[in-house]
Amino acid sequence: MPKTISFILPVYKNESSLQELHSRLTAVMNKDVKGLDYTMIFVVDGSPDNSIEVLKKITAKDPSHVRVLSLSRNFGHQAAVTAGIDYATGDAIILMDADLQDPPQVCPELIEQWQNGYDVVYAQRRPRKDYPWFRRMLSDMYYGALAKMSSVDIPRNVGDFRLIDKKVADVIRSMKEYHRFLRGLVAYAGFKQTAVEFDRDPRFDDGKTSYSFKKLVQLAKDGIFGFSDSPLRLLAPIGVVGALLSAMVGLHAFLSWLFWPQLAIPGWGAVIIAVFFVGSLQLIALGVVAEYLGRTYDEVRRRPTYIVAEEFGDAK
Ligand code: UDP
Ligand code: MG
Repeated sequence: MPKTISFILPVYKNESSLQELHSRLTAVMNKDVKGLDYTMIFVVDGSPDNSIEVLKKITAKDPSHVRVLSLSRNFGHQAAVTAGIDYATGDAIILMDADLQDPPQVCPELIEQWQNGYDVVYAQRRPRKDYPWFRRMLSDMYYGALAKMSSVDIPRNVGDFRLIDKKVADVIRSMKEYHRFLRGLVAYAGFKQTAVEFDRDPRFDDGKTSYSFKKLVQLAKDGIFGFSDSPLRLLAPIGVVGALLSAMVGLHAFLSWLFWPQLAIPGWGAVIIAVFFVGSLQLIALGVVAEYLGRTYDEVRRRPTYIVAEEFGDAK
């Protein structure tokens, strides 16, 4: 029995690139990779376009290599990939975007490193010059901060495009947390990891990213709050500093009243500042506690990360 590679392809507004993606992946797996079987698991994440219809056509042509899971609504990229990982039965899994920004021709290199004995092979983007500098700066700052705050080492310039061995997939499947930051989960799992460099292509359809600013902020929060408790631990020191500052303001007010009563202006300014200062510190602290509390609530409810509404295709 040849070993099998399962491709996991989350689909959201990708109707125009799916045919091309299927034929490029098919070509790569038949020409450039020898002796391996493959399946493509498309996870349609409540896509509002005609992606499902396009996938029905693709499945009709190539049923033995295609499996389609259609989620009951939009659950988000990380949930869609999670659904794919849960369903995949391959000896290795390759996660890639369905908009052809992750070029299929990189897959043979990922597979080669896997055959060399690596369990996780990241596809690492070479820095792109046309990428807006502020996004690059923000991303660098974020991953720098995350590395300092958490004990897992999440590599830079790496998205979700990667190969993971079956045993790593088993570990990921056993992690049942609701807020899923897959980059963190894979880093947490450990095993032998390496990277392969590539240039990220522009989107096939020239469309815009479906990662809105809001979704990006959510992902960033999942990384921080899921993999670090330093925001929680920072509260007490911030509170102490705030209290010290207010004590100094109080002392200043008292001394000026004692020694320079003729200069003492009615003290409401200082009072107001102190009240706002302490109040805002408390709000920050409460906000951080609420963040963890909300997450704990999400986890104890044990709601499913995704719901599959429909499945078709013969591939396993
Ligand atoms: N995606 C998804 N659900 C969503 C948003 C995106 O499954 O709610 C998928 C999308 O189909 C694509 C991948 O996630 O395969 C990356 O999305 P996109 O290309 O918009 O993000 P970017 O390339 O800007 O990181
Ligand atoms: Mg993209």
